[in-house]
Amino acid sequence: MLRKVQRAPELSDVKITDPFWSDIQDLMRETVIPYQADIFEDKIPGQEKSHAIENFKIAAGESDESFYGMVFQDSDVYKWLEAASYALEIAPDPELEEKADAYIDLLGRAQQEDGYLNSYFTAKEPEHRWQDLLECHELYCSGHMIEAAVAYFKATGKKKFLEIAERNADLICRRFGRGDGQRRGVPGHQEIEIALLRLYRLTKNSRYLETAKYFLDERGTEPEYFAEEAKRRDFSHWGMDPDNRKYAQYHAPVREQDSAEGHSVRACYMYTAMADLAAETGDEALMAACRKIWRNITQKRMYVTGGIGSTRYGEAFTVDYDLPNDTIYAETCASVAMVFFARRMLEAEVKGEYADIMEKELFNGVLSGIQLDGKRFFYVNPLEVIPGISGELEEYKHVLPTRPGWYACACCPPNAARLYTSLGRYIWGESETTIYAHLFVGSKASFKDGKVTIKAETNYPQEGGAEYLFSLKQPAPFRFAVRKPHYVKSWKIFLNGSDITEKVEMKDGYAYIERIWADDDRLELRFALECRRIYSNVGVRENAGCVALARGPLIYAFEEADNGPQLSALRIPRTAEILPELESGSRGAHVVLKLQGERLKSGEALYSDVPPAAEAAELKAVPYYAWGNRGAGEMRVWMHESL
Ligand code: ZN
Repeated sequence: MLRKVQRAPELSDVKITDPFWSDIQDLMRETVIPYQADIFEDKIPGQEKSHAIENFKIAAGESDESFYGMVFQDSDVYKWLEAASYALEIAPDPELEEKADAYIDLLGRAQQEDGYLNSYFTAKEPEHRWQDLLECHELYCSGHMIEAAVAYFKATGKKKFLEIAERNADLICRRFGRGDGQRRGVPGHQEIEIALLRLYRLTKNSRYLETAKYFLDERGTEPEYFAEEAKRRDFSHWGMDPDNRKYAQYHAPVREQDSAEGHSVRACYMYTAMADLAAETGDEALMAACRKIWRNITQKRMYVTGGIGSTRYGEAFTVDYDLPNDTIYAETCASVAMVFFARRMLEAEVKGEYADIMEKELFNGVLSGIQLDGKRFFYVNPLEVIPGISGELEEYKHVLPTRPGWYACACCPPNAARLYTSLGRYIWGESETTIYAHLFVGSKASFKDGKVTIKAETNYPQEGGAEYLFSLKQPAPFRFAVRKPHYVKSWKIFLNGSDITEKVEMKDGYAYIERIWADDDRLELRFALECRRIYSNVGVRENAGCVALARGPLIYAFEEADNGPQLSALRIPRTAEILPELESGSRGAHVVLKLQGERLKSGEALYSDVPPAAEAAELKAVPYYAWGNRGAGEMRVWMHESL
C-alpha cells in the first residue's frame, strides 16, 4: 500500500551553507521580512497601503479605524509569520521574535470566544460569517494561520500561537462535515486542507486529518453546491459566478479530475493537499488523480520557466499548449504552490521529475518574482515584455516591465519569503532505509536521530557537481540516493576517490548507493553544466521557430539592456557556440551566456517585397531570475532561431 515513502527532515536538522542560497536566505531575513513588516504597519511612504496589522487591532476592539484591504488581507500577516518562524530556525533574532510575539498577542486579542478569527468579518460583517465560502476566503485565511502557528511552535517551542490555531481549527472541525449538527461546506480557495494535515502531523489529533479529508472528498460532489450557497445569501463580495465550476476546481470530485483547471494557485494548493493526503492514508485513487494532473501540467500547461496560469482571466490554466509569453499570468504564488505539490509527490514516490520541477521553480518561476534587492516584487512573471505595450495596452495591463514595491493584493511576496526561508525542507529526504539528496544545495543535515550527518558542498548553479561528506559515530548500513537532473547527460560518481559510476543502481532519476557507511566517507559527483538549447512542442504556437537557452537549472532571458531594442528581430543560429561567462552583478556573480547571433534590418515600409537584411550581432542572455533589474526594457525568453 502507498504510504509516505520518505519525509523531509525538520528544519532544525538542516543548516544551509551555500554560496547561492545562503545569500537568498540572508536577503529574506535581513531585507524582505523586515520590509514586509513595515508594509503591514504602513511605515513605507509611497507604497500601496496594507493596513493588515491595523485590521487586527480593529477586530480586537483597539482601533476606531475602518477595515481596509482585501477580504483575505489577514493571510499576508500569516504568511509573514510563517516566514519569520523559518527565519528564526535559520538564526536566532530576538528583535524578529519580539515582533512576531507582538503580532501573535494581537491575534489572540482579535480571536472570538468560540475560536473564530478573521479581521474582516469580525470588524465589518459579523452577521455574514461563513455564509459566502465561495468568495470570502475565511477558511483560506485560517489555513495560513494554522500553517504559521505550526511553524512558529516548531521554531520557538512557544505554545500561544498554536493554541490560537487549534481553537480555530477545532471550531472548523466542529462546524464542517456530514455529521450531526455539522454544516456542509468547502472553501472557495483551497489552503485549509494543507494546513489541517500539517496540524494533524504535529498534534496527532485525527480530527484534523478527517476534516482535511472531508474538504477534499466533499469538493465537486454536488454540481449546485455554490449556486445554492449564493441563493441563500443576499450579498456578494466579488460577484463570482457559481456556475464557473472549474475556476475553483469543483467541476468534478477530486479523484475524477485529470487535468489542471481554473485558478492556478487554488488548483495547486488543492493538488498539494491531495498528494499529501494520498500518501498519508494510502489512497491510491487520489494518488492516481495527482499523477494525471501532474502530467497534464508539466507536459502540456507549464512555461519553460515553471510558470503556470496562461491567462489573466481567472488567473487560470486554459487548454493544452496554450502558453502565450506576453499575455501570460504565471503568478509567483502559483510557482510557489507548484513547489509544494512537487514536494508532496516526491514524498509519496521518489522520482527525479518531481525534484527537477521543484528545482526549476526555485531557480526560475519563483525567484523572478523578487527584485535582486528584495524590495520589489512581480505578481505576474512574463516570458516576453515590451515597454509601451506590456503594462499599458488593455490585454497586457497585468504584465509589468518592472517590479512594483507592493500590491493591493500582496499574496506573492510573503509566499516567496516563506518558501525560501524553509528551503531546508526541500533539499533532503529520509526513509527507513534510505537518505535522499534531492537538490544540490550546500548544507549540513542530520539523519537517523542524529547518528548520521551529511555535509553537501557545491557551487551550484555556477558549476556542476557536488560532494557529500559523511560523519557517523558508528558505521551504519543504509542507501544514499542522489538525484541525477534530467539535463545532466553524463556524470561520474566517486566514492572515497574510486570511480563507482558503473556499479551504481539508477532508478527513476536517482542513483542509489547501498553500503555500510563510515565516518569520513566522501561521495563525489562530477558533471559539467552544459549550455542547452530548449525547443517547444510544435503545439505551442507562440514558440514556433524559437529556441530558449538554459544552463543547468537556469533558464535564460535576453534583455534590451544587453542586446538593444526589437529583440524579436534577433536570430540565434542553430550552430552558434554558446559561451558561459561569470559576471559580477548587484547581488553576487552569475553566469551569463554569450553568442554570435544576427539582427534583421528592414526599411521604413510596413510591408515590402524585399526580405530583411541580416547583420552579425553579439548577443547576451542573463538568468531569468535576474531580469528586470536594470530599468524598463524589452525582455524575451523564446528567441527566433536561424538554421
Ligand atoms: Zn500571489
